[in-house]
Amino acid sequence: MDKHQVQQRINKLRELINHHRYLYHVLDKQEISDSALDSLKKELFDLEQEYPEFITPDSPTQRVGGKALKEFKKIKHPQRMLSFNDSFSKEDMEDWQARFMKLLSESQKNKINYYCELKIDGLAIELIYKNGFLETGSTRGDGNIGEDITQNLRTVEAIPLKIDDPPSHKATAGQGKKDLIVRGEVFITKKEFKRINKEQKEKGLSVYANPRNIAAGSVRQLDPKVTASRKLDSFAYELLTDFGQKTHEDKHKILKDLGFKTNKHNKYCKSLDEVFKFREHWKKEREKLDYEIDGIVVIINNNEIFEKLGVVGKAPRGAMAYKFPQAEATTKVLDVKVQVGRTGAITPVAVLEPVQVTGITITRATLHNEDEIRRLGLKIGDTVIVGRAGDVIPDIIKVLPELRTGHERNFKMPTHCPSCGTELIKLETEVLLRCPNRNCFAQRKRNFYHFVSRTAFNMDGLGPKIIDRLLDEGLVQTPADLFELKEGDVKNLERFAEKSAENLIKSIQEKREITLARFIYALGIRNVGEETAIDLSKYFGSINKITTAKLEDFDKISDVGPVVSKSIYEWFREKDNLKFLDKLEKQVRIQNSEYRIQNSRLKGLSFVLTGSLESMERNQAKEKIRQLGGDISESVSSKTSYVVVGLEPGSKADKAKKLGVKTISEQEFLKLIHPVK
Ligand SMILES: [Zn+2]
Repeated sequence: MDKHQVQQRINKLRELINHHRYLYHVLDKQEISDSALDSLKKELFDLEQEYPEFITPDSPTQRVGGKALKEFKKIKHPQRMLSFNDSFSKEDMEDWQARFMKLLSESQKNKINYYCELKIDGLAIELIYKNGFLETGSTRGDGNIGEDITQNLRTVEAIPLKIDDPPSHKATAGQGKKDLIVRGEVFITKKEFKRINKEQKEKGLSVYANPRNIAAGSVRQLDPKVTASRKLDSFAYELLTDFGQKTHEDKHKILKDLGFKTNKHNKYCKSLDEVFKFREHWKKEREKLDYEIDGIVVIINNNEIFEKLGVVGKAPRGAMAYKFPQAEATTKVLDVKVQVGRTGAITPVAVLEPVQVTGITITRATLHNEDEIRRLGLKIGDTVIVGRAGDVIPDIIKVLPELRTGHERNFKMPTHCPSCGTELIKLETEVLLRCPNRNCFAQRKRNFYHFVSRTAFNMDGLGPKIIDRLLDEGLVQTPADLFELKEGDVKNLERFAEKSAENLIKSIQEKREITLARFIYALGIRNVGEETAIDLSKYFGSINKITTAKLEDFDKISDVGPVVSKSIYEWFREKDNLKFLDKLEKQVRIQNSEYRIQNSRLKGLSFVLTGSLESMERNQAKEKIRQLGGDISESVSSKTSYVVVGLEPGSKADKAKKLGVKTISEQEFLKLIHPVK
């Protein structure tokens, strides 16, 4: 981008962010997720860091959002209430440290250490005590002026209405002080969140999107009785009154002594490395807390240095919110390419400017098909919201047309296969275009990738690059040829070391023994996934019986529909396929009795997994269920017994709720498969 383009981008980002902030803070409406909005703010912040000449006072980075609602009395904050800039990676944090270090003297640099707090998904408040009694409580508002919500905050049990004398040995300078200014957070527990939403539903009212919305909605009730019915909780984290505190940690100690509730998990960290450990720890343990956190807040512990560093825009320079990985982020679509799948299906794929989503950098997102591109209204060059649900491939959730420059291009699906040039066809029953050429190089390549993949022959060490070269050199025609490869064939390939040639051959030769289900799956029959392969292996027991089965035999298997039956049946009628099968059977040994069911504890139960599990891979979990006699299904139906909900679950969890299917956590699932003896 040249400078002019940067300025335009900055302007458009500001408009869009302001629009969504207004919706969210003033109208209590939400059109895009918190993480997508954070991602836009982050881009704006980074651009302004790089081009400070474009910072204007009305930028969202310079102002805390949220105009005061009309219904409440206004309260002017004695000191501006700031919020924090966001970081998402170690690099962001290191950049931050490098930026402020430049402003410090050598002796100050040596005094840098941090105080880390859990970043609670709640609402910031200010409490002012006069003569020992709570006089006013207010929201942050626009940072300068907030809403008077004193009556509502009085109903929050964790907020003291009267403060005691601070113990003299702990805060001598402030002894006897009864006027003070304290800041903190009001929030709602996960349990209360569920309860209130259930109640809303029963009353036919709309449900809240997240605990913060409820907390915000509850403290801004015009009737304090409603607030009181909603068991809000509160932590104090900032003390503006001088009690002689030297560090941020001191403030927390004094607040605690004064009778405020402080968070016991907050921690002093002497370096960024310790900060990173603190965040890692809470990223893993956050589920165990009874309230939601979306990251940590990192504050320079030394108050003098913190004050000296001052404010940039809306945030203190000496503090940073270090957020957990986001389920959604915004990025740009650089190009749209088409991919030729194993079965000839043509899928458009968006090439993205690299972006982190749930802690993983993604560069591509599937667009599924032409209809999906039309539904999204996507053009090449657009800014989009991308997300990952569970362990699925990233998806484009929404296009942000507000950020267009006019240089975006429409994408047109090709009419011919980009790999072999054959004209593409569209089958009546499908939305996808297909390359009908069976010898299409791209399809053959994909078939190889599938054949060696973890859930098929599991030949580790045989990555796409090596397969491409073996095919290019004509060393293999079909995957069955892999077993005939000799060290000498591979060693002569350019840039192939002797040692790795030896390892490669070894990893192929080790895989000559395979279960029937994996064998069927590896064949790459259209519409035959892992589950269908297992069903086929259980039903027929040998590959021979499948080869000679009639079309109606497949229909008899439950879970196998007519489309799948037809594609299996037809696969075994193709001459080339039978030749391949024949050759392959000579190379491998198929174990026919596969699932030696250990016991039938889970017999009759069917499971759906969604999200990632922490204690085991998804495949291991599936294997375990099958060994105990249970069934796995890919989609939730009323017949599903349990939906196991892991981290970052997908839509399956919602569907289960809708259908009233029981959902269980990973812990509950583990108890089910390993009951305590
Ligand atoms: Zn082709």
